[in-house]
Amino acid sequence: MVVVEVVKVTDQLRDGYDVVVLGGGAAGLSGALMLARARRSVVVIDAGAPRNAPAPGVHGLLAREGMRPAELLRRGRAEVRGYGGQVVSAEVAAVAPDDAGFAVALADGRSVRARRLLVATGLGDELPDVPGLRARWGRDVLHCPYCHGWEVRDQAIGVLAGGPLSVHQALLLRQWSDDVTYFSHTMSPPAGEEAEKLAARGIRVVDGEVMSLEIVEDRLTGVRLNDGTLVGRDALAVSPRMTARAGFLTGLGLLPVEHPSGAGEHIPADAGGRTEVPGVWAAGNVTDLSAQVGAAAAAGATAAAQINADLVAEETRAAVAAHQNPFRAEVEARVCELTTGARRHGL
Ligand SMILES: Cc1cc2nc3c(=O)[nH]c(=O)nc-3n(C[C@H](O)[C@H](O)[C@H](O)COP(=O)(O)OP(=O)(O)OC[C@H]3O[C@@H](n4cnc5c(N)ncnc54)[C@H](O)[C@@H]3O)c2cc1C
Repeated sequence: MVVVEVVKVTDQLRDGYDVVVLGGGAAGLSGALMLARARRSVVVIDAGAPRNAPAPGVHGLLAREGMRPAELLRRGRAEVRGYGGQVVSAEVAAVAPDDAGFAVALADGRSVRARRLLVATGLGDELPDVPGLRARWGRDVLHCPYCHGWEVRDQAIGVLAGGPLSVHQALLLRQWSDDVTYFSHTMSPPAGEEAEKLAARGIRVVDGEVMSLEIVEDRLTGVRLNDGTLVGRDALAVSPRMTARAGFLTGLGLLPVEHPSGAGEHIPADAGGRTEVPGVWAAGNVTDLSAQVGAAAAAGATAAAQINADLVAEETRAAVAAHQNPFRAEVEARVCELTTGARRHGL
């Protein structure tokens, strides 16, 4: 006999869910997949702007190497829906405590209630304010050697200093090319040990502010300094300041704090994704600024398992309390039977 299970999926929001997942990138969808498979009612609310959207492919992801970011998420959404999870296109505006746990208000005026929350809204990259730079982001303006290093191997790479990790970034990129130039831009030129490391690795340091990028036939060809000098470059690495997309959590008193690396702000969470607010977990870039797609997905799955365990513990506590209650219906019926025979009431 063939048993066919029909899972009905709708984008119509119910009033309440075991878990509302805020953000449907790699972290959120992975968490939702785990929760749906754990037979939890779950909805993902997603604004549809994953961080890596400008990039042509996802790299360093086993078995999905080079896949377009949009295609990866399309598959993820289909997998979540395949187990009865919902994925709804909307923006979360605010979250507040509620009798059931949490009330999530959407920007379109709808609202939904949740027993638990998984925050997976990722981060925003604040790019350097250099004319022409934003339009090249994710193409020949990049930040992560592991995401783009292979694609720019052996090319003329520039590093636009902009944060505490810029020298480290230049030293890393030297692994992919022996033609790396460090532009100190608005920062002081490296000194002491840092300057020695760059020199030892053959990384040229150019002082002076970068005013614009040179683009020819939709390709980066160089970097223009404020004195007019043009330095030919095929790719430019930058250090965006990274900020958690989590302003909607202020109603819970959960505020982003400075990340210890100095690279931006995040929502702190423990290794399982638990935040300081009971019932709220976080996964992916919103808490871990350095997480790539694989790590974000893994964190979402880990947090989801923790959330399910937390719900199981709550439900078990309630079951034990009911079990121990001598006035529950089954016990009352048995007592009545013993004392009043056929005139008993209850079950
Ligand atoms: C240019 C670039 C290239 C990259 N290339 C690679 C690569 O090759 N390989 C790799 O492994 N990693 C790469 N990364 C890193 C990758 O983008 C992150 O690891 C990944 O996106 C983190 O997943 P996430 O789920 O935490 O966040 P995201 O993917 O950013 O997903 C968060 C989701 O939440 C949604 N959201 C935000 N706010 C709200 C709100 N208020 N309401 C509802 N939804 C909301 C967003 O729209 C988005 O869909 C790259 C990053 C950049 C910037």
